Amino acid sequence: MKGIGSRESALERLSTTRSGDELDLLVIGGGITGAGIALDAAARGMSVGLVERGDFASGTSSKSSKLVHGGLRYLEQREFGLMREAAQERDLLRSLAPHLVEPIPFVLPVADKWARAKFGVGLWAYDALASFKNLSVHRYLGVDETEAAVPAIPKGKIKGGFLFYDCKNDDVRLVMEVLIQAVRYGAVVCNYTTVESIDGTEQGCAAQVRDVVSDASFEIRAKKIISAAGVWGDKVEHLANPAHEQRLRPSKGVHLSFSRSKLPMGDAAAFIPDAERKRFLFVIPWLESVIVGTTDTHYEGDIDAPSVEPEDRRYCIDAINSVFHLGLTDEDVTGAWAGLRPLIAGKAGATADLSRSHSVYDIAPNVIGITGGKLTTYRRMAGDAVDRIVGDLGVTTKSKTGWIRLGTADVDALRAAVARRGQALSIAPDRIDNLVRCYGDRALSVLDLASELGMSEPLVPGMQPIAAEAVYCARHEMVVHLSDLLGRRTRLSLTDIGAGIGVGSVGAQLLAAESGWTAGRTDDEIRTHRAETEHERGLPLNLDAPRDRPLEAGSTRGA
Ligand code: FAD
Repeated sequence: MKGIGSRESALERLSTTRSGDELDLLVIGGGITGAGIALDAAARGMSVGLVERGDFASGTSSKSSKLVHGGLRYLEQREFGLMREAAQERDLLRSLAPHLVEPIPFVLPVADKWARAKFGVGLWAYDALASFKNLSVHRYLGVDETEAAVPAIPKGKIKGGFLFYDCKNDDVRLVMEVLIQAVRYGAVVCNYTTVESIDGTEQGCAAQVRDVVSDASFEIRAKKIISAAGVWGDKVEHLANPAHEQRLRPSKGVHLSFSRSKLPMGDAAAFIPDAERKRFLFVIPWLESVIVGTTDTHYEGDIDAPSVEPEDRRYCIDAINSVFHLGLTDEDVTGAWAGLRPLIAGKAGATADLSRSHSVYDIAPNVIGITGGKLTTYRRMAGDAVDRIVGDLGVTTKSKTGWIRLGTADVDALRAAVARRGQALSIAPDRIDNLVRCYGDRALSVLDLASELGMSEPLVPGMQPIAAEAVYCARHEMVVHLSDLLGRRTRLSLTDIGAGIGVGSVGAQLLAAESGWTAGRTDDEIRTHRAETEHERGLPLNLDAPRDRPLEAGSTRGA
């Protein structure tokens, strides 16, 4: 199987569970936590189903800062245990998914001696918490080295900077790799399938679910249910136990993206203070763009549709302009997204002070929940949740996910093979790299399709994804809507000023042909994608804007 299998066969399997033929485990939620649980449990030999009410990773798991990191920021909160665990997980994930989890140098510019002393102590602690196994121990850079590492820094404004390393990734692609491995171990996963009620008893569980595409409802029976519903955790818990107490306190974080020509960065990311010098923001070269974020504010709005408000945008743009003096405005924004952290409510006043640790808790007989944590630590979270249920199921196998490779076993050989095939199809080197990053070993299958269908051109002029990806994702990655392709399988909603639609974009037409959409359905898909993106960005899409060609053939780039 090349991907996660067909939606139809997943629905068929999930809708035919009966007493005596029930699943061992039903997982609710197809973000990184649910995907990790499905893989962990399936690899221990359990029969597993996973249902996701929207697209896979459509919740917080597509809205992160794209880091797999130890979390330097958490030093202030003294989350030493979490930082140590996160650093270990970062290093493990780098070896399990080397095509996707990539080291990135970070530069922390310093303006005076006091800042140098303070950050120096913090970075020693950061290295020590990782037992000095961070990708490389931090070091101090002189003025020239700092300015060369971060071209956006105006000359003569800083005294130097610290260099340290973490990793970046593509959060959605990580979720997809974990799901694909789960399916290879026998899990059945299905998107656009909402859990509407849960009955947990001592004898076993049943969930009433609705296929959002056909509007058909059916029951799934399982011995155990784990809710991995992120910021929706309270809502799912309410389905099984209406008397429960609210656990979560959502915090909103936003990011903006800019083209690399407007915000010139080299290969290094920067860690910069906000305009009031109270918090730090990341400035990360990512895909075709540079992303800036994030905020951390208590959120009381609609958890289904957070958006970037004008004050969020102002905060990020002011931070950039105060450090880099670039005079950026709303007009320069090429993408913007808002995510909600599923933080566990505590005594702290500000959400920024709440713990990033995770919690596994009982909801009803045979039903448990897990929430909190970080993308980086999903594997540990998944292991903890599955450990909680194995005893009752008589499973004695320990978690195997520390050894299960995600995407490829030999990234160097893969890169060479994909480069050879891609060059034969005249695909530019950065687009070839992008295929390896997105699909791992499956990049060769995408190239087979590109060759067979004559689809090597970009999906959007000037951007990296190629046309064959639309067909591949429709066939093997359960794309149901246009926004699944443009927002998640490719990240065009985040990096392309036109969010993957507009002049020259072919994604909608290719999906229409592949999925048999009528002209009316295709127009609806484009309209919906546009409305959703404009709502989340808090800005109208500029469909006529010319796209940059920010990276030329041969330049370095990464996940
Ligand atoms: P989600 O991804 O939200 O998944 C829960 C899923 O459950 C959703 O897809 C939802 O649709 C589904 N669901 C809900 N109700 C139902 C139902 N009734 N039926 C079926 N499905 C349902 N972590 C890092 O390690 N590195 C970072 O750089 C980083 N940056 C971040 C930046 C921001 C701004 C934010 C907000 C978080 C960041 N995090 C980061 C944290 C990380 O993104 C989250 O901890 C993680 O993505 C949470 O994943 P999850 O699977 O628990 O939740």
